[in-house]
Amino acid sequence: MMTYPFHNSPRCGAKTKRNNGAPCHSPAVRGKQRCRIHGGSKGSGAKHDNTNALKHGQTTQKAKMCRKEIRFQIKNWKDFQKLYDS
Ligand SMILES: [Zn+2]
Repeated sequence: MMTYPFHNSPRCGAKTKRNNGAPCHSPAVRGKQRCRIHGGSKGSGAKHDNTNALKHGQTTQKAKMCRKEIRFQIKNWKDFQKLYDS
C-alpha cells in the first residue's frame, strides 16, 4: 500500500462515543493535538493567559518557580553555614 504524507501526520487523541472511548485517529489540525471536529478548529480554545479556571494560583508556573527559588536559596544558606561551622 502506498503511504502519503498525511498518513504520518499527528492523529487526534480525543475519546469518542462511537469507538467505546478509543481515540478518534482523524488527522490533527496543524499545530494542535485534536482534529477539526474535537476542538482543533480555528478560533477554538482559550486565549493565552486565560484565568477562567484559576482557583488559587498555587500550582501556576510562576508560583512553582518561586518555591523552587526559595528552596534553592535555603539550601545555599545551609551549605554556607556548614562551611563556617566546620
Ligand atoms: Zn478527533
